[in-house]
Amino acid sequence: MAARRFFGGVHPAYNKDLADRLAIEAMPLPERLIVPFAQNLGAAPKPVVKKGDTVKKGQIIAEPQGFVSVPLHAPTSGAVQAIDVYPHPVGADMPAAVIVPDGKDEWASGLDVDRGGEGLDAEKIKAIIRDAGIVGMGGASFPTHVKLSPPKDKPIDVLVINGAECEPYLASDHRLMLEKAPQILEGASYLAQALGVKNVIVAIEKNKPDAIEAMRKESGARGCTVAPLDVVYPQGAERQLIYVLTGRVVPAGGLPMDVGVLVQNVGTAYAAREAVRRNRPLVERVVCVTGRGVAAPKNVLARVGTTFGDLIAFCGGRKPDAGKVIGGGPMMGVAQYSLDAPVTKGTSGIVVLQQGEVAQFVGDACIRCGRCVRGCPMRLNPSVLSIFAERLRFEDAGEHHVLDCIECGCCAYLCPSRRPMVHHFRRAKAEVRKIAAKAV
Ligand code: SF4
Ligand code: SF4
Repeated sequence: MAARRFFGGVHPAYNKDLADRLAIEAMPLPERLIVPFAQNLGAAPKPVVKKGDTVKKGQIIAEPQGFVSVPLHAPTSGAVQAIDVYPHPVGADMPAAVIVPDGKDEWASGLDVDRGGEGLDAEKIKAIIRDAGIVGMGGASFPTHVKLSPPKDKPIDVLVINGAECEPYLASDHRLMLEKAPQILEGASYLAQALGVKNVIVAIEKNKPDAIEAMRKESGARGCTVAPLDVVYPQGAERQLIYVLTGRVVPAGGLPMDVGVLVQNVGTAYAAREAVRRNRPLVERVVCVTGRGVAAPKNVLARVGTTFGDLIAFCGGRKPDAGKVIGGGPMMGVAQYSLDAPVTKGTSGIVVLQQGEVAQFVGDACIRCGRCVRGCPMRLNPSVLSIFAERLRFEDAGEHHVLDCIECGCCAYLCPSRRPMVHHFRRAKAEVRKIAAKAV
């Protein structure tokens, strides 16, 4: 299995060894948690608490708005100190609740109980996953119950549990697979039950041989196959992963369900297990805090709402020559303008670069070298697209399929002119979507 190779891609320096041998450490509760309401793709949930309220851990603090939305839960017990606008790791200020922990970390009634996972039908599993606020934890943050509910004419026959973790530096999925393999596979079995799927493939890049072994040891009992993958970025991107594992090609503008496949991150499978089996909503996650600019890299089990500043302090602080702080990995992540930005459900890592490592995207002119075209795994023409975006020709960018860009950053990585490609494409995609919405 997995002998196919997708078009394009790059081989960046992975730097995984800074953190991949470090066991997950639970971080003590910080003095305050900043919990943004917008943590899922789709509609942000609406706050149902106000300043001065007390909350229990796992209590709903924001209600979902429609089907493509999930509830948000208090990450610990304490008091709501404020509801205001705070930095968000996507790079903008957004509404959030500030919770001051009371130190008791007391669950709301009925949560955190072992209720077994047997005898649940597909609808019940999907409802539990929705009510637990679970979203894709590889970074996409798409509500998981929606992915588990494809239309009847798009039956799914393959579930891929994505442990590729191809993004440089990050090791949170790697550690989770090493330390929680039985739980991840139990979660995968609930996801498979919800879909009615028998074929479950756990995909892991070959630079994690210990994780491959750990997952293989447990996979037989769960009827899953483990597929070791070649190490090439972006191997873990959905379309590339699906092609490599199944030979199926997700059409332009289409979704994995168009070819009968659903992809879920290993962290999502683990969260599904915690929800179904232990009645625990999603209030914490593993965050890999790494890079040569942080004193003591760690894989941290952190509450949602823990600020990047508090997490970095827990890891010994920034070194004197620290450069940019990236939310996520260096290929797809977002450089942070404030360390008050908090961990969200989609935060897999924080990378603190050294000053010399900081990519200086200065926006020189394209010299038409063609490297980006050869490296784009979506077979786009990033050179032309970036010129359209720069000149605000968004309709042209749309006609040249900018919406198919997966924002992997391969083009920016290869570009000798250090053009800020992904920045251009994110903006162009937003503008193309606005144009399409106006046309309806
Ligand atoms: S154009 Fe988009 S998909 Fe292609 S390499 Fe650049 S970021 Fe990746
Ligand atoms: S890699 Fe950079 S300079 Fe070369 S064609 Fe692409 S955008 Fe232009």
